Amino acid sequence: MHRGTQHPDRSSTRMGLAGVGDEANAALCPQPPFEVELSEIIMVKNEVNYALNNLSSWMKDEGVDKSLVTQLDRAFIRKEPYGVVLIIGPWNYPLQLILVPLVGAIAAGNCVIIKPSEISSSTEKLLAETLPSYLDKDCFAVVTGGPAEMTKLLENKFDYIFFTGSPQVGKIVMAAAAKHLTPLTLELGGKNPCYVADESNLQNVANRLVWGRCFNAGQTCIAPDYVLCSAETQEKLLPALHHAITQFFGPEPRESPDFARIISDKQFQRIRALLGSGRVAIGGQTDERERYIAPTVLADVQPSEPAMQEEIFGPVLPIVTVPNVDEAIAFINSRERPLAVYVFASDSKLVRRVLERTSSGGFGANDPIMQMTLISLPFGGIGNSGLGSYHGKFSFDTFSHHRACLLRSMGLEPMNSLRYPPYSEHKMGL
Ligand code: NAD
Repeated sequence: MHRGTQHPDRSSTRMGLAGVGDEANAALCPQPPFEVELSEIIMVKNEVNYALNNLSSWMKDEGVDKSLVTQLDRAFIRKEPYGVVLIIGPWNYPLQLILVPLVGAIAAGNCVIIKPSEISSSTEKLLAETLPSYLDKDCFAVVTGGPAEMTKLLENKFDYIFFTGSPQVGKIVMAAAAKHLTPLTLELGGKNPCYVADESNLQNVANRLVWGRCFNAGQTCIAPDYVLCSAETQEKLLPALHHAITQFFGPEPRESPDFARIISDKQFQRIRALLGSGRVAIGGQTDERERYIAPTVLADVQPSEPAMQEEIFGPVLPIVTVPNVDEAIAFINSRERPLAVYVFASDSKLVRRVLERTSSGGFGANDPIMQMTLISLPFGGIGNSGLGSYHGKFSFDTFSHHRACLLRSMGLEPMNSLRYPPYSEHKMGL
């Protein structure tokens, strides 16, 4: 286990921004700088500014309603730091998914041990080398390494654990936390369904689906994972999806500077194996050397096929046909609760119907991902997609113990005598 060096090399900053593809060779296949700016830099800056502007009010003791017998007392909630927090990050947005929770943990007054993903190794190095020159070394430390180091780290008793990653590892973290009764937040993944209604403006739908699915080459936890629509809508949607892909990335997306690569050989092999599901209606080309997978749409996918058994986490969009919205709702509800449910429809009643009859961490109508950019909304999952939430004030609350305080005076003892023994029928009636 290696703690962050105290002699940072600032020249590593640029290299560290290449989260995707930096396992083997960052120069070969970086995430497009525009996407890095949006997802890694702006998101963090927004969190910092929002916390700076609002922290003084978040920190204040919060008065609460009082009962008749506590009318003369002071009753309030005090927000206190938990103590030492462990923040564990994944590789897909390796900067944002460490720094955004870190903002909340610092705002709430905690000390923090930071454990970035070892897969996004350049960003891991950047954080280990750079953070100690900005943060108090007595309160903040970066621990590097993979599962072996994590296993050792999790033997320690922390006061709070904040984990972002897969549901499988989330279970390991939760089991380790249980040994010390440590409270935790789990930000996990899953398959986010998108129901596309028959009467929707299909080119707008296609643009938004392709953007959401292809941003960071699909390696986004709240990306649209699969489409549910009628067979007729599928046939109309396919040319619109093809048009959107060509508009965004040109006739040969492999040559586009705006299309990222897959993080690792392991992930590349896993995603490529999913291309056998349904029929390849668009794309399907791959290049192992570059870890390139073309923006791909799989049509007529069966629910039992591999693409519908695991989170895709790549630029591949399966379409499962269902006869109507009620069947789509039943399909969504028959599976684990996802991080997000999306619905594309101009009919607001239909949107509300899907909202009311499904359950997920978040919900988006007519656009994927954008709900996450609103700092005033909590971000988190439910069930298999996570536990707890953060962003903005929700981060501050997540990393704060809410201490229930009642301050009474030593006087007014005659009133208290009403609840002291000896009890009597007379006191019961009061
Ligand atoms: P992961 O669970 O494999 O790894 C996350 C962290 O756990 C890493 O720091 C890693 O070093 C550590 N780890 C991995 N295996 C371990 C083990 N056996 N024991 C102990 N620690 C271990 O996740 P990932 O592959 O880095 O990220 C992809 C997953 O994260 C996807 O499921 C995605 O949906 C999810 N994710 C969720 C969010 C969210 O906000 N909800 C955001 C991004 C990614």
